Amino acid sequence: MRPRNLWRRLRRARAQPIRRESERTREVDLRITRTLFEQVRLHVEDFSRGEEAGFLICGHGALHDRDVLLAREWHPVPASELNRGAEGSVLAWSASFNSEILERCLELDCTPVLVHSHGTANPRFSGDDRARERPLFGAISRITEPLPTGSLLLGSGDAIGSFWVDGANDRRLGRLIVIGQSIESWPASDATPGAPRTGTRLNRQTLAIGPASEEKLATATVAVVGISGGGSHAIGQLAHQGIGTLIAVDDDTVDESNLGRLIGATEADIDTTLKVDVAERVAAGVDSSMRVVKIPERFPSPASIEALRGADVIVSCVDRLDSREAINELTRRYLIPLIDVGMSIRSNGERLASADGQVIASLPGWACLRCWFLTDADLAAEQRDAPAGYDRNADATGAAQVVSMNGVLASEACNCVLDLVTGYSAGRRGALVWQYEGRSGHLEPCELPTRRPACPACAQEGHGDPPSNRERKD
Ligand SMILES: [Zn+2]
Ligand SMILES: [Zn+2]
Repeated sequence: MRPRNLWRRLRRARAQPIRRESERTREVDLRITRTLFEQVRLHVEDFSRGEEAGFLICGHGALHDRDVLLAREWHPVPASELNRGAEGSVLAWSASFNSEILERCLELDCTPVLVHSHGTANPRFSGDDRARERPLFGAISRITEPLPTGSLLLGSGDAIGSFWVDGANDRRLGRLIVIGQSIESWPASDATPGAPRTGTRLNRQTLAIGPASEEKLATATVAVVGISGGGSHAIGQLAHQGIGTLIAVDDDTVDESNLGRLIGATEADIDTTLKVDVAERVAAGVDSSMRVVKIPERFPSPASIEALRGADVIVSCVDRLDSREAINELTRRYLIPLIDVGMSIRSNGERLASADGQVIASLPGWACLRCWFLTDADLAAEQRDAPAGYDRNADATGAAQVVSMNGVLASEACNCVLDLVTGYSAGRRGALVWQYEGRSGHLEPCELPTRRPACPACAQEGHGDPPSNRERKD
């Protein structure tokens, strides 16, 4: 579509009456990688020529309780397009630039977010901002609908947002989430702060990693997929660490053989209790205020996808390569850090022949599992030798496992989560991959490979919901 046609559509959309501003209740989170966010800040926080602005082009996820925008591209408004006011404040830029941005959004099935800064903490939109926003996003939102579009004003560690859908200005910023080797969560400056945590349960951990950690952990959502082996250790440790919301995904019921490795399972659970119920019991036993979302289904069922899209971090403890591939793809689409835990034990019947495990922190912008060891050939071989559902066969023998070795890997995975959420290491953790050799007890940090240019999962970074999930006006 040519920009000129787009601009005609914009003008037509503007001629329609703006819907009455209802109470802005539904929240919009915006996720962005640190690398892209640094480019944005470098531009909009440079006031040498006056105020600056630009557009983030974002993918979108429609969660049941909020929208998530996923920043993909940054387009600063070029100096040549700007008309500055007397004191350097931005008053306007050319209509053709808006048209270019909108065309790029339609091309990528994305939506635009205008970003600027006043250089102050606790930011509030000015009268000029409001006056500019109403005709611009009132019109654009009729074209990007059902995707929200709008304006984001950066503060310093906080931000404020105003979002529009189909001519109605009814959404506000929830959190701005910046994803690097740690996750920075910028709260909305117009939000009512929650009550601080009281009690002494995390005192010893707070002594180690600082007083700000409790609040960060309390507002974090961490998912664990596969809670039979390593995942059950992770659930217990995450509960003790003070994570606010845990999502547990597993479709199995406890059987007798699980008592050898499922932390928290008891004899009374055999053949009667779902593993997610064990997880809830363990977590609630540590902290009854913790929210536990149970998904007694196998990923990628619709309910599990729905729940995982809202996680800040996903810990994957699944055995199968196809499950790992699906989780890896989801974490790329929605810009979610993934901690993958895997262990492979071989025995000669009497003794361990080998026990190789790894913990991989796969972050948006870095190499993913598909860039590396999840190859088409291995996925095809798994499909041939052990098709999906194979493990439900009564004759299927599960993989060899040792509870204490699972525990080593799960502990390191929980250190990864703790560092991602609180930034306790200040970027000094030194690796994103740890190799474990269970026979010798050797745990070693290793180099992450570089990204594979043709990686099919990385190609979907920030894409959010597939287009078939939504209908757009045209
Ligand atoms: Zn402003
Ligand atoms: Zn990749």
